[in-house]
Amino acid sequence: MDTAPVGPDAFAERWTGVLVSTGYVALDRATLVGRVRGLTDVVYAALAAPEPDTAAVEKVGTALVELSLTGAATLAASVRLFGELLSGPHLPALQGALTSGFVAAQQERIFRDQEAIRRAALEARRGVEAALLASEARFRAMFTQAAIGIVITDAVGTLLEVNAAFAAMFGYPEAELVGMSAADLRFPDEPAAMREPFAEMVAGERDHYRMERLLKRADGTGLWVDQSVSLVRDENGAPRFMVGMMEDITERHSLEERLRHQANHDPLTGLGNRALFSERLAAAFALGEENRVGVCYLDLDGFKVINDSLGHDVGDELLVAVAARLDALVTAPNRLVARMGGDEFVVLVEQSTGRDELVDLAERILAALAEPVSIGGHRLSVSASIGVVERPVAGTSPAETMRDADVTLYWAKADGKNRWADYDPDRNAREVARFTLSARMPAAVESEEFYVDYQPIVRLADGSLVGVEALVRWAHPEFGRLGPDQFIGLAEETGLIVPIGRWVLREAAGQARRWRDAYGCRAPRVSVNLAARQTEEPTLVADVGTILAAADIPANAIQLELTESAIMETTGKPLAALHGLADLGVRIAIDDFGTGYSNLAYLRHLPVHAIKLAGSFMEGLRGIPAADPADSQIVTSLVSLAHVLGLEVIAEGVEEPQQADRLGAIGCDSAQGWLYAKPGPPEEIERWLDATADVTAGR
Ligand code: C2E
Ligand code: MG
Ligand code: MG
Repeated sequence: MDTAPVGPDAFAERWTGVLVSTGYVALDRATLVGRVRGLTDVVYAALAAPEPDTAAVEKVGTALVELSLTGAATLAASVRLFGELLSGPHLPALQGALTSGFVAAQQERIFRDQEAIRRAALEARRGVEAALLASEARFRAMFTQAAIGIVITDAVGTLLEVNAAFAAMFGYPEAELVGMSAADLRFPDEPAAMREPFAEMVAGERDHYRMERLLKRADGTGLWVDQSVSLVRDENGAPRFMVGMMEDITERHSLEERLRHQANHDPLTGLGNRALFSERLAAAFALGEENRVGVCYLDLDGFKVINDSLGHDVGDELLVAVAARLDALVTAPNRLVARMGGDEFVVLVEQSTGRDELVDLAERILAALAEPVSIGGHRLSVSASIGVVERPVAGTSPAETMRDADVTLYWAKADGKNRWADYDPDRNAREVARFTLSARMPAAVESEEFYVDYQPIVRLADGSLVGVEALVRWAHPEFGRLGPDQFIGLAEETGLIVPIGRWVLREAAGQARRWRDAYGCRAPRVSVNLAARQTEEPTLVADVGTILAAADIPANAIQLELTESAIMETTGKPLAALHGLADLGVRIAIDDFGTGYSNLAYLRHLPVHAIKLAGSFMEGLRGIPAADPADSQIVTSLVSLAHVLGLEVIAEGVEEPQQADRLGAIGCDSAQGWLYAKPGPPEEIERWLDATADVTAGR
């Protein structure tokens, strides 16, 4: 190809040819050539300049795009033409400038086109909507055929137009509705708050609201709707119309109601259930600190027996009958009867007036249940035990109230059933203390919080120390020193008396050993109390044997005291235990003799060695003359009878010299009591032994 540079005219002619062959330009050829000639001049000037004027040539690229020559082919052909017909050191730079100018302009143009399309589409859509709204016919079709009820009212709620669905929902002919007021479709007792959004809309303060509400049908029945109401304003912004759309949700609503009812009611009796009760109780507490609240918590007596013997169907019918009686009794709106489960019912009294109101209610419940119930040919007598709690709301909680009601119900049962009991904080405190004690007791055995005091037993004839009674005490870390009366009964109930009693015996046997080491044959016999519960323990005899062997003392150094009732109940296994103990050689004494009903004749058959006359007999032996000659007579008879049976007699609770004198005269063998010494630590017994040793030595 000829490389001679061409003049600008020739170049412009050739370039125009390239452009029209690679793109479409909406200009006639002469005009186009004129434009291209202008661009050619810019390029020639840039080629000739000392520095390449790339900015100018970029604009040439831009100009091509502005001529709508945006294709890649146009750019490629133009760059090639530059290379063929032009020359000079700046040529490559100018070819690059043409390209970048062209591409930048092309991107700019693509972006601008997209924006224009988007805007056009938007406007087009708006046009459709406007067209639809404008089309009254199509709006009519929508209005009349809609499945949901539509109503148009004026600015104060007078119905102007309704659709067929709306009329059908409310049960009116369409024509009748027009002219009615929105208020005519509401129930007059509707909560005032439901009307607020409407009032705000009438006042122009609100443009829209949506709510579920109960409206009134033509026949007076209820219609639940989900309604959505919008305000249409005039050109000045003042309320003009209201447009309401409503959906009939009556069915959904009644389903919800049914589910709610099911969730809150007992299916058998129809009464409220525990959930409903809890809700109402919480609400009663929420009424305010100054209120009071009461509950009667009742449980049928012996219901399980009826259920088990007559069958569950009869049991169910009985529960239904009881529920009906309670329901008939409880009519006041501030009261609620609920079934808590099984045969437990509760009556809640909101805003109660005082204890009397609840006691009266409890008595009426007991009376209502007193009449037998006839079920399937059976006349069933039912009764209930009722726990009554009535108190100010302040300072307590629903949970605490129910816990106390539960405890109180338990008391009513324990006190004999078919009765009410009312909550007694002192009784509760005592029970809690008992519970606290019994909970601590196992650890106390382990950590040796127990200790033993000893009280002298004295021979009446010469005042010498013949024995001591070991009496357990508890050094409680929190409550201080506790006497056996405060915990032995509890330990018997829980069975912990077994390890505690074993510990006391081991302790007493160890002490007996030490005294024997120190005082030889002057060492006192040690008497240890044995609880009835311990005699039921199969290992008792073996345990005692082991303890005696471990302490290395003869069996007759120990005397075991059993109460009269424990001995009299002794049949079977415990009786065998008693014989087993006696066979070991341990002495057996009957403690607190005379407080029960044992007869001395029966004792003949038991391996008993001594009786301890109960302290209560000592009252009559007080003073000069004797306070009660009859006591004196009884004691005289008991002592001689006991002696006939070969039993030793020890008097307990001797506090005065006159008592000791009379006992001595009667022939009683020995005595124990404050006259001689109170129970104390072993050192006091040792002081006694040491003192009498001095007397003996000094004699
Ligand atoms: P108990 O076996 O009849 O013990 C005699 C009780 O009378 C002791 O009370 C003693 O302190 C008290 N006493 C002694 N002299 C007099 C007096 O002159 N006047 C009065 N009014 N009372 C006097 P304590 O120590 O409180 O023991 C009470 C009961 O606890 C004992 O009655 C016994 O039944 C039981 N007990 C004590 N220790 C044990 C034990 O280790 N095991 C068992 N199972 N029961 C025990
Ligand atoms: Mg005793
Ligand atoms: Mg006693």
